[in-house]
Amino acid sequence: MRTTTVVYAQHFKLLVVGGGAGGLGAASKFARKLPLGSVGIVEPRGDHYYQPGFTLVGGGLMTLEANRKRQQDLIPKNATWIKDKVEMFTPTRNSVKLKGGEEITYDYMVIAMGVRLRFDMIKGAKEALDTPGVCSNYSPFYVEKHYREAMNFKGGNAVYTFPNTPIKCAGAPQKACYITDSILRKRGVRDKAHMIYATSLKRLFGIESYLKSLEKVAREKDIDVRTRWNLIEVDSGNKMATFELLDDEAKPTGKTEKIEYSLLHIGPPCSAPEALRTSPFADKTGFMDVDAASLQSKNFPNVFGVGDCMNTPNAKTAAAVSSHLKTIERNLSQVMQGKTPCMEYDGYASCPLVVSTNRVILAEFNSKGPMETTPFDQSKPTYWAYLMKRYLMPALYWNGLIKGFWNGPATIRNCSRLVKSK
Ligand code: FAD
Repeated sequence: MRTTTVVYAQHFKLLVVGGGAGGLGAASKFARKLPLGSVGIVEPRGDHYYQPGFTLVGGGLMTLEANRKRQQDLIPKNATWIKDKVEMFTPTRNSVKLKGGEEITYDYMVIAMGVRLRFDMIKGAKEALDTPGVCSNYSPFYVEKHYREAMNFKGGNAVYTFPNTPIKCAGAPQKACYITDSILRKRGVRDKAHMIYATSLKRLFGIESYLKSLEKVAREKDIDVRTRWNLIEVDSGNKMATFELLDDEAKPTGKTEKIEYSLLHIGPPCSAPEALRTSPFADKTGFMDVDAASLQSKNFPNVFGVGDCMNTPNAKTAAAVSSHLKTIERNLSQVMQGKTPCMEYDGYASCPLVVSTNRVILAEFNSKGPMETTPFDQSKPTYWAYLMKRYLMPALYWNGLIKGFWNGPATIRNCSRLVKSK
């Protein structure tokens, strides 16, 4: 018997793809401005996590549950949630095709698909995550395991890795390492651990003032930092991690090294999600090709990007999303009125570098250097910055960013500059 699949077409004035930090923020902003039913959000996941909280979950300083909310409770009132995923973009027809087969058309679109964790790019890593000793704060499925591993650690090599691809919150693998150092010290077993931070980068951090502080932290904590090391294989049967050694341009030298681990925390390679990677919106790296100032698609002017999925040079963080949202709110509104974009994204990103169970270096920067909000020296680890990370930032995320009310700290920064200059 033949069956017929009925596929309904829907049209939205603004279609938002992805209901994470950037997608919800963008949808909230425009659902308030446009008539009821104008905004659609495509997002497949029923649970929404506050991912910056994963660092604290992995350190036993917060529960995973405290960082999770139901997506249905977060979708803005005036917007329509399409619980599905985009499989194909056809921008020449202003349309997307969903996994369920439906086609949706739009007048304008915001792409906010984030990045995909690519444990599959490391041989054996996906399977290893389900074996003793292997974990990752990047995944809600393996983040609690990190804390359990730190609490059960008896001795040997504790290895933390950083991949040879773009990654969201590039500080997170280091934070995991430093928190574990504190846990092992509290438990009185630190002397039994050889802690290794193996990174594909040439140094611990890109911004000089934070780099100095982090090098001091790593030295004081006796962490064995290995630069230009890239994890390529995990043999969980023998608890062996294999690294390729990279040259100054981060290209493989052909040499490899092996480390036997008791604990292995994987900082996963990341790529753009497949539907984006294979679409006309992508550049050759697979990320969305946008103008770095206006965040408008280079090829399709009715489409903008927000967040981690873009090829902008900023650090991929929720903090950067706040400034992206401010930029696209203005620029997309201009385009909707037939005008050209007029606001420029300033490159702002932030990474609260948790260096122990109660101290944070509050790094705020763009590619030119620090962009600090407070009048204090933020390159020093402080307790007040920890309190901001633990309490203020989650509140800002749930009540400000994803509701489209938080545009980043630029105004506060300008005020504190006045205080500093007095
Ligand atoms: P996401 O919030 O990841 O959302 C992307 C959404 O797109 C997802 O919901 C996904 O389901 C959806 N999607 C994907 N593919 C499709 C598709 N085909 N169709 C439809 N929808 C799709 N940031 C900070 O600012 N400070 C921190 O301290 C910090 N720490 C972090 C620690 C860890 C361990 C991690 C993992 C992240 C951290 N971040 C931090 C980074 C921050 O969480 C991200 O930068 C931020 O969430 C990016 O927002 P986004 O909207 O681009 O992506």
